[in-house]
Amino acid sequence: MKQVLNFIDGNYQDGSTGRWFDAVNPCTGQVHATVAEASGSDVDRAVNAARAALTGPWAKLSRAARAAMIQAIADEIDRRSAIFLEAEIADTGKPQSLASAVDIPRGAANFRIFADMTVNLAEHAWPMDTPDGAGALNYSARSPKGVIGVISPWNLPLLLMTWKIAPALACGNTVVAKPSEETPSTCALLGDVMNAVGVPPGVFNVVHGFGPGSAGEALTMHRGVDAITFTGETRTGEAISRVASTGARDVSLELGGKNASLVFADCDLEAAVEGTIRSTFTNCGQVCLCTERVYVERPIFDAFVERFGRAAQALKPGVPKDRETTIGPLISEEHRQKVLSYFDKAASAGATVVSGGGIPDVGPELSGGFWVEPTIWTGLSEDSAPVAEEVFGPVCHIAPFDSEEEAIHLANASPYGLAAVVWTRDLARAHRVSPQLEAGIIWVNTWNLRDLRTPFGGSKQSGVGREGGVYSLEFYTEIKNICIKM
Ligand code: NAD
Repeated sequence: MKQVLNFIDGNYQDGSTGRWFDAVNPCTGQVHATVAEASGSDVDRAVNAARAALTGPWAKLSRAARAAMIQAIADEIDRRSAIFLEAEIADTGKPQSLASAVDIPRGAANFRIFADMTVNLAEHAWPMDTPDGAGALNYSARSPKGVIGVISPWNLPLLLMTWKIAPALACGNTVVAKPSEETPSTCALLGDVMNAVGVPPGVFNVVHGFGPGSAGEALTMHRGVDAITFTGETRTGEAISRVASTGARDVSLELGGKNASLVFADCDLEAAVEGTIRSTFTNCGQVCLCTERVYVERPIFDAFVERFGRAAQALKPGVPKDRETTIGPLISEEHRQKVLSYFDKAASAGATVVSGGGIPDVGPELSGGFWVEPTIWTGLSEDSAPVAEEVFGPVCHIAPFDSEEEAIHLANASPYGLAAVVWTRDLARAHRVSPQLEAGIIWVNTWNLRDLRTPFGGSKQSGVGREGGVYSLEFYTEIKNICIKM
């Protein structure tokens, strides 16, 4: 059986718990690897190694040399993309067409953007008058924040992990990463990459395990960690915030969503249907940016629902390598039970099921996997659980609206504020509506088009802080003011 190990101070190693847990292939339900669970003392060794590395050869690299090393990490991920692809697919069951186009290339791209950014960085300067007339010059300077604890979820494992590791390293920090227990493999492979390009031991470390009572909690509690960056559920983010307040450590939180799409009658209907299929069902609905609430202007409501339902029924579950597969499974049986519970809640609340609502027949080879049908409801009230709560599966509810004001009100009537989509051909409306939406990321006539220099993050219960481009610098560096008297 394949083993997935911790990576501490440049070496792969078992956990001193002596415990191993299973990595399960969601397509089949079968164990494909066994993972070494790190103990509190393993986490301690990882954090100590990361602290020691802050003052070693890593700190002495010039900015250009460090950026070149970060670029080399990206090249090495590209060189090993087949290995990363296989590991990511084994952990997640996602279609190969998706993982090879998005997950793995973005893993490399995340390193490239931040390497470029840190070498091209400019700082501010403020000349000031002084009573003696000589003047003074203030300027801002940045230094690494220190040891960064990185905790990530299972839906886009390499992509989301490297979204944090890359800026952390590019800014000169050291890292202890804890990938999701569901998807540990690609993060572990990064250890080999770091060694191959000569990243000094201790700069990058990986510990495996769970949240409370395991490696996740041990990492966030560790006072040798200077800042924590987390992506995952809002409730977990709240728990991590509480822990981070001990020692007044900085925390960046990318959390859950219940994202709305507004489809106006003046839209390109075909594009809106195709785009909403992507925004709802990509990665089996397991993307924080996915749409789960669709609001359609009444004159095109029936036409939209009919076309959208047909397109959802055409999605094809299957083995990841099959080119015809367009939708994968959910991540685990536990998550499937959660999603199925919303199918039940929708049924008992009297929903009309436009498509799906059950478990697809995927044949004997895949019958042990965690499959559910892409599911669309209409007719539910806004305060019913399937419409109000994040399901994080291939589901959405569609409701009609009659005016722009009502559409904005419906979109904003959620405790979450991560992403929103507006479908309209009216440019003035696009400009009018978008700024009124309470979300960190708003797309017009597209979805998930990402320029990595732009701010990424959520408002309300969807997060704290922004990452991406120069916005990541605010978190991954300590800015100081230097005042020189002339
Ligand atoms: P989760 O919160 O259950 O787990 C995320 C990570 O936190 C895992 O590595 C887990 O082991 C760890 N963890 C759990 N409890 C912990 C604790 N008390 N202390 C320290 N670590 C702990 O989330 P998940 O189920 O893996 O991911 C799905 C969620 O992530 C969804 O809510 C989704 O919306 C969200 N998400 C948000 C974004 C974003 O950018 N805003 C991106 C992807 C996913």
